[in-house]
Amino acid sequence: MTSSTDPNDLLMERARRVIPGGVNSPVRAFRAVGGTPRFVQRAQGPYFWDAGGTRYIDYIGSWGPMILGHGHPAVLEAVQKAVTGGLSYGAPTEREIELAEAIIALRPGMEMLRLVSSGTEAGMSAIRLARGATGRSVIIKFEGCYHGHADALLVKAGSGLATFGHATSAGVPPEVVQHTMVLEYNNVAQLEQAFAEHGASIAGLIMEPIAGNMNFVRASVEFTRRCRELCTQHGALLIYDEVMTGFRVALGGAQSVYARSIAGFEPDITVMGKVIGGGMPLAAFGGKRAVMEQLAPLGPVYQAGTLSGNPVATACGLATLREIGKPGFFEALTAKTHRLVDGLKAAAQKAGVPFAADSEGGMFGFFLLPELPRNYGQVMKSDGARFNTLFHGLLDRGVYIAPALYEAGFVSSAHSEADIDATVSAAAEVFRSL
Ligand SMILES: *Cc1c(COP(=O)(O)O)cnc(C)c1O
Repeated sequence: MTSSTDPNDLLMERARRVIPGGVNSPVRAFRAVGGTPRFVQRAQGPYFWDAGGTRYIDYIGSWGPMILGHGHPAVLEAVQKAVTGGLSYGAPTEREIELAEAIIALRPGMEMLRLVSSGTEAGMSAIRLARGATGRSVIIKFEGCYHGHADALLVKAGSGLATFGHATSAGVPPEVVQHTMVLEYNNVAQLEQAFAEHGASIAGLIMEPIAGNMNFVRASVEFTRRCRELCTQHGALLIYDEVMTGFRVALGGAQSVYARSIAGFEPDITVMGKVIGGGMPLAAFGGKRAVMEQLAPLGPVYQAGTLSGNPVATACGLATLREIGKPGFFEALTAKTHRLVDGLKAAAQKAGVPFAADSEGGMFGFFLLPELPRNYGQVMKSDGARFNTLFHGLLDRGVYIAPALYEAGFVSSAHSEADIDATVSAAAEVFRSL
């Protein structure tokens, strides 16, 4: 029981009685940083207001989808219009084709896709498809990459090199993860060893090309190249989880960023979500026709969804994609993100705080470390206590970043230079007290 009169505290107390931990997704609970989560009352542009009416500059943006900021007029109009035509039919619509065509037009090599309602569903279906299409069982994933909360993907590295992992959640039997191999991100030697030993049983390799669930860690060009080559050589499918990076780091996703350095580069299956729904529950997975046609009703791999391709969600996604596809959109977004990251770096340096930061398009990450980490082990060397001071210092000054040091941040087109400069000034004050 609290004696606080802060409306956020009161709501949290009420929420805890009926919702485990008071939240419907664990990271919202502020467990890592302490304190009470802010209950959002409303949001507009780059801001949201909490239950007490306090305004925050929002660098989470629903963990990525709100690339246009909150309440973009074109998106609102599309959603309002869609709502009046019915909320869900459980029968096909033209808008699903339009969205599929719009996504495929931006993805060289992708010929078909299927719409689902969450990134978790898309990731889970993609590995089932990879297993079904290859007739093999083993999936490689990398430590620190998140692919949703499907059983087979909630796995951490076992001890030693190239071993099969252990479940990270209770309720996942060892048998369910026995075919999931967990390797270190950016470790080429370990990757080569895994394919040398198990190549014939590997169905697919799933990765975040720029890992946003360990803050912001890029796969090196060499690592990316070897992932592609080894999959091709051993008949495994390369699955790019672009739920976060797709339509966020560039219009063509992270794969288009790597294609600049690796000629002809493309994954076999791409998993998408977040931005393509524009804030509504919508995700997708897609690839070559021969692979995608393994799905029911054409093929033997079963996958389905009552709300898949929902008419309101597809309207929201289409309107969002239309806006971000306009000429100059990503150039402007990238410039804003650079302004933020460069400002933060300069402020930290001035205050003598070890700080490293990186960004691509509208996604950024920073670490209280002297240099950028390359894998999960290095990310975890970040100073948690100092991060918490920084987090709360920013929150007290009206700036909302992810409440955990292993999460990326997001800038929207609605953030103005003044919002970014205000953020940098707030951070400069906090850095001086770190
Ligand atoms: C958010 C995320 C997911 C899961 O998506 P949900 O819609 O939360 O189920 C999967 N993969 C990556 C890379 C993500 O960032």
